[in-house]
Amino acid sequence: MTSTLAPAQPSTASSISALARPEVRGLPAYNAGLSSAAVRARYGVAHIARLGSNENPYGASPAVAQALAGLAAQAGTYPDANAGALREGIARWTGAPAERIVVGNGSENLLEVLCQVFLTPGDRVVTLLPSFGLHEIYPRMMGAQVTMVPVTSALEFDVDAWCAALAGGAKLVFLANPSNPVGCMLDTAAFRRIVAAAPEDAVLVVDEAYVEYALHSPGFPDAVAELSAQPRPWIVLRTFSKAWGLAGLRVGYGIASSAEFAGLLHRVRTPFNVNMAAQMAALAALSDPAHMQASVARTVAAREVLVRQLRGLDVAGLRIAPSATNFLFIDLGRPNAPVHEALLARGVITKAWKERGFENYLRVSVGTAEDNQRFVDALAEILG
Ligand SMILES: *Cc1c(COP(=O)(O)O)cnc(C)c1O
Repeated sequence: MTSTLAPAQPSTASSISALARPEVRGLPAYNAGLSSAAVRARYGVAHIARLGSNENPYGASPAVAQALAGLAAQAGTYPDANAGALREGIARWTGAPAERIVVGNGSENLLEVLCQVFLTPGDRVVTLLPSFGLHEIYPRMMGAQVTMVPVTSALEFDVDAWCAALAGGAKLVFLANPSNPVGCMLDTAAFRRIVAAAPEDAVLVVDEAYVEYALHSPGFPDAVAELSAQPRPWIVLRTFSKAWGLAGLRVGYGIASSAEFAGLLHRVRTPFNVNMAAQMAALAALSDPAHMQASVARTVAAREVLVRQLRGLDVAGLRIAPSATNFLFIDLGRPNAPVHEALLARGVITKAWKERGFENYLRVSVGTAEDNQRFVDALAEILG
């Protein structure tokens, strides 16, 4: 049989790359880590402790399973492009008007859309070092220059350095509070100083992926209230992936400073960016905040136990960054790659940080008491 298709053009990896925008050719890959299945297959381990992605080990509210059970009958229809019911639900939960709320396929989708809306080549973006990968990758995809402000030697925000960097100009500011991967947070006074140092026409993006955990830390600022009291355009991003236990379904949201700001994001996002299952699940999760709050309280308590256990190992050079989140950033005092690998071989998934200058650091999520113990025991064996 002869094919009606044209013969394939001789094509090499280098020639297709030459066709890509130069911004894309230079992009680093997002370090998403290995799946549980991949770790199981590679190392033949029975139990996997998933401590690499800051998921909620206690899962979502049972109300989510109930909502999803009825989904099959509706799978043939498009989801609500406006996510009306979900945005109303988020409005009730946050107290912000629905016209200023935008939802995304995870909050990472909103990070991408923000970059597409605001950045042209040469624009300056200011963010943290070490950073959440997408705070650097999406701006660079748009051709922006990314200025990264390092944490202090004590692994805290360097507020003076942030103010100095912002004085140099910025189109967009990606400020994760608390930060990922470090876990440190800005208190209200420090948050105000950084906001005030930003140019008056900068777009302030405050990424609060861990807000539900940070509310347990004294001094955590009310970002929406603080930002509402100043003139710059702003958006606060949150997610259902962490405390709400819905990482697999991909739902995040933003509270923007104005309906006009939200409207710009609506123009650029794909029309059905949050699928039907995700909309239903997120709305169901919001109907049971007590479930989320109980799991957050357990995680915060487990985090403190984990810190004490790690200190108790008495490993020379081991340092733990202050954390207002559901993870710890640990300076191993030695290269992270072999330790990360040895943990994988014992069925413990963590995240070895790859940014230059942080190759000695491991980020570990706070899991169940049993999984945290597995991590501590494995680490003791590896470092001991
Ligand atoms: C996890 C995380 C997100 C995004 O999560 P989604 O699953 O895309 O909602 C965004 N920012 C930070 C800092 C995160 O840690």
